[in-house]
Amino acid sequence: MQSSVFLRRRKTRQVKVGDVLIGGDAPITVQTMTKTKTEDIDATVAQIYEVTKARCDIVRVAVPNEKAARSLGEIRRQIQIPLVADIHFNAKFALIAIEQGVDKLRLNPGNIRDESKVRNICAAAKERGIPIRIGVNAGSLDPDIKEKFGLTPEALVESAKKELRWFEKAKFEDVVVSLKASDPLTCIKAYELFSQQFDFPLHLGITEAGLPRDGTVRSAMGMGVMLYQGIGDTLRVSLTGDPVEEVEVGWAILEAFGLRQRGPKIIACPSCGRADIDIIALAEKVKERTKHLTKNIQIAVMGCEVNGPGEAKAADVGLSGGKHCGLITLNGEIIKKVPEEEMLDALLAQIEALPAP
Ligand code: SF4
Repeated sequence: MQSSVFLRRRKTRQVKVGDVLIGGDAPITVQTMTKTKTEDIDATVAQIYEVTKARCDIVRVAVPNEKAARSLGEIRRQIQIPLVADIHFNAKFALIAIEQGVDKLRLNPGNIRDESKVRNICAAAKERGIPIRIGVNAGSLDPDIKEKFGLTPEALVESAKKELRWFEKAKFEDVVVSLKASDPLTCIKAYELFSQQFDFPLHLGITEAGLPRDGTVRSAMGMGVMLYQGIGDTLRVSLTGDPVEEVEVGWAILEAFGLRQRGPKIIACPSCGRADIDIIALAEKVKERTKHLTKNIQIAVMGCEVNGPGEAKAADVGLSGGKHCGLITLNGEIIKKVPEEEMLDALLAQIEALPAP
């Protein structure tokens, strides 16, 4: 069913990354990061095409060496979504990335600790009109801050504040902030503390979240709590896995709270001893056959006639399995009974016939 509860988002400033907005009243965007060697332009562009197909809004690439930095312009020319250069240690790579025409930079304040270098990067970014994310990471905190605060939420916030003071002195305000840690509770607290003091747009993430199942749960728990409080303007799910999976999970998190919808939403029953059809295989097929659609509709796939039609009531269109047959529902009303072998096609035809809302 559609939720009657709507989350109110915290008001933040807005920045522009290429033609995508982050913050303010812009939709919460989904990001990922490529896992190829950035200097392998063909492989990197191929991976960016894959995540673009999965409707990633913004993509980030690692820039660990000069060759990677000098590949950014060609990558940018070949892709359709905004490109972010991820810089950890080397201010020179940041300046090359800006020259190469990237749409945003991510700097790790724990690793670029020289104020004059930050000032130069800010000046170059300002000239090109590109924003910078201050990407604080618990794994690479400034040693002084770590010594004083330990590995705490306060340390993450302090690291961002220190960098923000330098940005302020450089009169650079086009900033996004992230405060990532692999522990969701540390992360949640850090974002809460920060958002009580600043209105910069926030990039959410639980870093090093882990293999897909663990990482999905940790990310959903951490980001879910933050999104519920209205915190978060863009997000990246970090998984030890395919970046397409990261995009899929990012979307699923936003869709679960009704913050964005990427085409049909499928609800399916878990199946039980009452099911007369293989509901798991059927739900997979429905997902596969409808994933290209952009209609924001709800599709219910239910296992039996006892609860199926009732539970599918709130969906636009539904299929409930029966004894060797399927019941097609439209806005909760049964409109057709078809033989089992025809039910998938009948459901898809009904979806096709629905106008886009
Ligand atoms: S809809 Fe029917 S088959 Fe599915 S879980 Fe409910 S009772 Fe079981």
